[in-house]
Amino acid sequence: MEKSRPRAHVVLQANPLVTVLLLLLSFIFNLSSPSGDRLPAGQGGHAPGPVEVGTGNLRWDPESLQGRVIVVDPGHGGSNPGTRGVGPQPEKDIVLAVAWDLKGMLEYAGAKVIMTRDGDYSPGGKNANQLQARVKTANSSPGDVYVSIHNDWNNDSRITGTTSYFYSGEGYYLAEALQKGIVEELDSRSLGVRWGNYYVLRNTKMPAALVELGFLSNKKEASLLGTRSYQTKAARGIYNGLVYYFSNRG
Ligand SMILES: [Zn+2]
Repeated sequence: MEKSRPRAHVVLQANPLVTVLLLLLSFIFNLSSPSGDRLPAGQGGHAPGPVEVGTGNLRWDPESLQGRVIVVDPGHGGSNPGTRGVGPQPEKDIVLAVAWDLKGMLEYAGAKVIMTRDGDYSPGGKNANQLQARVKTANSSPGDVYVSIHNDWNNDSRITGTTSYFYSGEGYYLAEALQKGIVEELDSRSLGVRWGNYYVLRNTKMPAALVELGFLSNKKEASLLGTRSYQTKAARGIYNGLVYYFSNRG
């Protein structure tokens, strides 16, 4: 499994002191992930511990979304259901519903949306590498950012919360903004911003983040994630995160 360090020097462009301190602390303590090492081979890595989301004064300007191109990547699909938790729906259905809601919100705000899949199928076709297909869709688009949407799972069914992953550079700020937007909207427990060695984060050329909205292994969170109202709230959270991102980093 390939392991590499995030390129911290790229991250130093704003709030340098705070960012450096947080990343250093996170590397030094290397806290074990509460979600465990559940990633499929080739996708996962050992992440440093979570970075607390900054709560400084962030600008808020939905007009900052106008003309942006957002690549929305609902995880899994087709014969790959993703996480099957204790709730009524598999991960692939939940994240697709969230993605469609998000698409509508973003387009209403004047953004353009590119979906890596828009139905219950595996991107690229049955025999294709679906991760490569997602990356290809993103990299052949004029996408400004890439957001992959997932649900989490843990052996410990008591664990709940939202995590946002980045791999490098500007992706850190995107993950931070998304984490803030989602946690505020869902009122979920923040498990922080984490470094994640995911294929789709490593290989997309634009700032990229992967969000784990909540745990399908937890009864309460799984049943919430199975409802349309909560799915729409989750989309609203991602939307708000993108507004934070483009208002402050755009
Ligand atoms: Zn997933």
